Parts: sequence; C-alpha cells; structure tokens
Amino acid sequence: MKIALIAHDGKKAEMVAFVLHNKPLLEKASLVATGTTGMHIQQAGIQVKCLMSGPKGGDAQIGALVATGQLDLVVFFRDPLGKHPHEPDVQMLMRLCDVHNIPLATNPASAKMMLIGFIQVHGVG
Ligand code: PGA
Repeated sequence: MKIALIAHDGKKAEMVAFVLHNKPLLEKASLVATGTTGMHIQQAGIQVKCLMSGPKGGDAQIGALVATGQLDLVVFFRDPLGKHPHEPDVQMLMRLCDVHNIPLATNPASAKMMLIGFIQVHGVG
C-alpha cells in the first residue's frame, strides 16, 4: 500500500493526530509526503519519504506519482479557510486523482474510512 500524505498549514496538527491514531496501519504502508508535512510526521516517529514543500512543487511531485500509477491512496487535508499560492497545483493533484481513479481523502473522517476500506479489499502491505 503506497500512500501520499499532504496537509496545509492549518491542518498539519490534524494530520499528525491522524497518523498517530492510525500508526499500526500506516507503518505497514509505504508513505510519501510533501516536505513540511513529512517533517511533522517524522517528528511524530513515523517513517515517511519527504518530497519538496507543497508551494515549491511537492503537490506537483505527488501528482506525477498519481499519473504514473505509483500511489494507492492520497490523503490531502486541505484548509478550506486559507488562501494558498499553489492552488493551481492543488487543483491539478485532485484532478489527476479523478483522471486515474485514485482514492482521495480530504479530511480525517474520509481518510479513516478509505484506509479501512483499502485494507478490507486488498489486505495490508
Ligand atoms: P507542505 O506542503 O507539507 O510542504 O507544507 C503542503 C501543501 O501546502 O501543499
């Protein structure tokens, strides 16, 4: 199971809480994250590969992984109350998830459901 984790600044605390809460499942997956999100996740004691920071191209890197079939699930906790200089990249990533039929969770409740669903359908690993 290959999972990408991304959180806007206003949602990074929620992302850390999510990964800690689901640590036993996520530790069995291969995790990749945008730069700052990944740093927070690492500080919480979970291994994750960090790409570039979102505004510097990290969302675009994850979009490329989606387009090339290298991800099973994208967890993207967007901050609906904030403005983001890289909004075009955010839209691009979400569009690519739809183009390639890759599950995209944009809040902790849906991420939890997708994680459970993925494991039920495919097993862990
Ligand atoms: P960040 O990027 O993890 O580097 O903060 C997330 C984003 O805003 O797309």
